[in-house]
Amino acid sequence: MVDALMTGTEKIMPDNTLFSLAGRRALVTGASRGIGLTLARGLGRFGAKIVLNGRHAEALDATRAMLENEGLDAVTAPFDVTDQDAVIGGVEKIEHEYGPIDILINNAGIQRRAPLDQFSRADWDALIATNLNAVFFVGQAVARHMLPRGRGKIVNICSVQSELARPGIAPYTATKGAVKNLTKGMATDWARHGLQINGLAPGYFKTEMNEKLVADQAFTQWLCQRTPAGRWGNVDELVGAAVFLSSDASSFVNGHVLMVDGGMTASV
Ligand code: NAP
Repeated sequence: MVDALMTGTEKIMPDNTLFSLAGRRALVTGASRGIGLTLARGLGRFGAKIVLNGRHAEALDATRAMLENEGLDAVTAPFDVTDQDAVIGGVEKIEHEYGPIDILINNAGIQRRAPLDQFSRADWDALIATNLNAVFFVGQAVARHMLPRGRGKIVNICSVQSELARPGIAPYTATKGAVKNLTKGMATDWARHGLQINGLAPGYFKTEMNEKLVADQAFTQWLCQRTPAGRWGNVDELVGAAVFLSSDASSFVNGHVLMVDGGMTASV
């Protein structure tokens, strides 16, 4: 009786390949540096073939060469994720030249800081374009290939700012809150077609985006006090959650946002 209700993915038998990504192709946006690069490398170490995206072909080539030197399988797909035509063309090209995209990590993102009453329209538009519109553009373009295949993983990079504000970054907070709910919407529309769409929400990590904060001793002191784990995150600590959300281990996880923040959002 129960078996009659079962379809597709429930047939996965838990064994030691549950977290394997062998043979899966993963497109990681914003993979030339920072969190995107770390996640690309991490998925590659679990067997995935990596497609590195960013706007700058030379930077991507350098990243590809580095990953290849480490024995990983990586190719590049330079395009601007804020340009919907470029996204559609870029995704078509990957599917045609390299093969099906099994995993999408929607990671490309930017930060702009200013008091809200002085925040410029140009910076607001840039944040919306990169942090929100692009998640829709790339997610939709990739999902259109995944849906007929009845399988695929999408991981949208959210943030502690999907839940919490901080002075000077209200527009960023708005985009990351929207990405959290877009993740739920994607899951609601696409889970029944065999896709899993989830969010991964980093706390504070030392990347180029945060270099001003890292250099600010008062901020670091505040952060270490505010975070139950008492420290900055190390980008490698995001890999486990990304592998989980990209692998068969998360076959019935959908619309979830996994916080990797040293407990920051669990605590006032
Ligand atoms: P980062 O070091 O500044 O890297 C951003 C990446 O995105 C770069 O590879 C950049 O490459 C790419 N990118 C930017 N605009 C793009 C566009 N229009 N099209 C294609 N690629 C683009 O940032 P990060 O700290 O690794 O952050 C990555 C993600 O994690 C972002 O979504 C961010 O909001 C999120 N996050 C970060 C933290 C943190 O502590 N660092 C915390 C929470 C969430 P090019 O400039 O060469 O295009």
